Amino acid sequence: MSEPKYKRILLKLSGEALSTPTEVIDPNILDQYAAEIKKVHDLGVEVAIVIGGGNIFRGASAAKAGIDRVQGDYMGMLATVINGMAVQASLEKHGLYTRMMTAIKVEAVCEPFIRRRAMRHLEKGRIVIFGAGTGNPYFTTDSTASLRAIEIEADVVLKGTRVDGVYTADPEKDPTATRYTHLSFSEAIGKGLKIMDTTAFTLCQENKLPIIVFNMNKNGNLCDLVSGKDVGTLIS
Ligand code: UDP
Repeated sequence: MSEPKYKRILLKLSGEALSTPTEVIDPNILDQYAAEIKKVHDLGVEVAIVIGGGNIFRGASAAKAGIDRVQGDYMGMLATVINGMAVQASLEKHGLYTRMMTAIKVEAVCEPFIRRRAMRHLEKGRIVIFGAGTGNPYFTTDSTASLRAIEIEADVVLKGTRVDGVYTADPEKDPTATRYTHLSFSEAIGKGLKIMDTTAFTLCQENKLPIIVFNMNKNGNLCDLVSGKDVGTLIS
C-alpha cells in the first residue's frame, strides 16, 4: 500500500452512529469501527477521535422538554464521555493503545485535555479520544471536531456518517441524486447542509482545514480515503 495521503486525522463520529433500535451503544458497531480504525492506524496514520453524545442526551432537545439548556448541554457533554469510554474499550480490545482526554475533568477515568500532551500521545502512536466536547454549552461535537483538529494540527477532519457523502438531493428519495466529490466551504454553508453546523464549517474554512464527509459503515472506506482514493465528499 502506498504512503497515506493524510498523516494525522481527526475522525468525528456521532453518538447516534453507535446505537441501534435495541442498544444505546451497540457492541457490534463498536467492534466494526475499532477494526476500521485499526486498519488506518496500521498504515502509520495518527488518529484522534471526537465522539458525539446524541444517542444518550442532547441539550437542545432536552430544553424543549423543559430542562435548563445549559444544564442539559453539560449532560450532553458527559454523555460523550460514556461513548468515548466505550470506543476506548473497543479499540483496546483490538490491541491499540489509547488515551481519552476530556474538556471537563473526569480524572478518575480520563486525562484532562492538554494540547501538547495530546500531540505527544499521537506521536507515540496512541489513539486519542477527545470527550466532553469543547467543555462549553451551546456548542456541538462537530464544532469540537474542527477545534481539536486545528489545535492538534490534523491534516483533515473526517466526518463519518451513514451515507456516502453529500448528494445533490436525498438519495433515498430521489434516484437521480448524485454525490458531490468536492464542495467549497461557501457552497457547503450556502446550501445549509445539515451534515455539520456552520460553526464547524467556518472554523475549518478560516483555518484552511479540509473536511471529508464519508460513509463510516462501509468496510475499507476509511483506509481508502486516507490512501487518497475518491471516497465521500471533500469540502475545502
Ligand atoms: N455539547 C455541548 N458542548 C460541546 C459539545 C457538546 O454542550 O462542546 C452537548 C450538546 O448538548 C449536544 C450534546 O453535548 O447536544 C451531544 O453532542 P452532539 O449533539 O454534538 O452529539 P452527536 O450529534 O454528534 O451525537
